[in-house]
Amino acid sequence: MKVLCAWCVRDGRPAFLREKWPFEDPSETHGLCADHFTSLSASVNQVVTSRVWFLSRVHDLSWGLTRWAQRMRGRFLSLC
Ligand SMILES: [Zn+2]
Repeated sequence: MKVLCAWCVRDGRPAFLREKWPFEDPSETHGLCADHFTSLSASVNQVVTSRVWFLSRVHDLSWGLTRWAQRMRGRFLSLC
């Protein structure tokens, strides 16, 4: 497998880091290059904050989807 830096991919930079077992598998997986690891470690507080924000957004979204699914199911059942 090819290991690519997810952040370099986002920035459109050369992202290839290393090969990883199984070597015959041509698919890609994501890691972090030294540059981005350093800059992320430096701004770790910001990362934690945005991670909390992200998780709370995911929670909102999954809650909204659950409500939507319930509403759709109710509408579908009332048609039958
Ligand atoms: Zn990178």
